[in-house]
Amino acid sequence: METQIVSLTQGEDKESLLAKLAQAGEIIKNGGLVAFPTETVYGLGGDALNPTSSQKIYEAKGRPSDNPLIVHIADMEHLEKIVQNVPESAKKLANIFWPGPLTMIMHKSDIVPMQTTGGLDTVAVRMPAHPLALTFIQNAGGYVAAPSANLSGKPSPTKAQYVIQDMDGRIDMILDADAGTDGAIGIESTIVDMTGEVPMILRPGYITQKMITKVIGKTDTDVTILDNNSKQPPKAPGMKYRHYAPKGELVIVEGEPEQVIRYINQQAALHAEKGEKTGIIGTSESIGQYKADSIKDAGKRDDMLSAAQKLYTFLREFDDENIAYIYSESFSSEGVGQAVMNRLLKAAGHRCVKL
Ligand code: AMP
Ligand code: MG
Repeated sequence: METQIVSLTQGEDKESLLAKLAQAGEIIKNGGLVAFPTETVYGLGGDALNPTSSQKIYEAKGRPSDNPLIVHIADMEHLEKIVQNVPESAKKLANIFWPGPLTMIMHKSDIVPMQTTGGLDTVAVRMPAHPLALTFIQNAGGYVAAPSANLSGKPSPTKAQYVIQDMDGRIDMILDADAGTDGAIGIESTIVDMTGEVPMILRPGYITQKMITKVIGKTDTDVTILDNNSKQPPKAPGMKYRHYAPKGELVIVEGEPEQVIRYINQQAALHAEKGEKTGIIGTSESIGQYKADSIKDAGKRDDMLSAAQKLYTFLREFDDENIAYIYSESFSSEGVGQAVMNRLLKAAGHRCVKL
């Protein structure tokens, strides 16, 4: 299949932009797939109400079909069409956080096919905050099923070039809006399950439990997020897979900064003796003290949004640089840090050295 790559630039005139988004919308309506920018990561979109489209998404990603897709909407009225009885608490959260990086799970209505929900009778819904995404969704008929636009198991794409790397030849169109996605959040949305008595966070993200609790009162967090060693299956089916993996072996190193720097430099030197390349993810405070083939600055130690924005890009860059071993400093688990550590631990297959 030939993939059309279409760039959307900020300075572009409105008419040409709208024409491109209309064409992308038509592709979805006709059962095709389009990768599009959001304020989190690039999504791989298909018609959420068309079972064949959802199947195509699984095929294009190589994703197991028991891993449900998030349905993206652009209009609050559309929520009631795909969900049975929107809970009051969900309306409150939507009011505050939509459009934005929050996904809510609710009981699905009959028009949502089981192929979209991975066989579940619940559906995950989100309204993204990216203006181009909203127009695209409207043009596409209002309901776009979209997981991240990476091959299954690879880091989620924060730039169009990574979507092209993974999806060229597998989908109909890629909307490249890199010029307009500066400041994107860089990690996937927070997922909260609204079907139980007490809403439960299934995947941490930019919108934290604290922010959600402030709006609706008591919430829980899936134990598998809090406890690294939990043997229970996670409640979001997708969280059980080893995600976000770079090609190199990633290890997180925890301890006092001086110890961490010493340990990582020792490991890098050992790998260098064997001719193997090492990459390091550090913080602005320590970055100058490392010696390795590739050294990445995640930002200041207390700036977890910066770490979120850069993490997947770093992992992809290490792949491109043929890095065999990656060492990352550990980050705070406060606020957005919880989401950063959740993704980092998954990328590392939970390999963590405590000094
Ligand atoms: P992605 O689209 O790559 O961001 O992944 C979507 C995530 O949402 C996966 O972890 C899914 O397991 C989760 N998800 C989607 N729908 C549901 C649902 N109905 N119940 C629980 N988790 C869901
Ligand atoms: Mg994903």
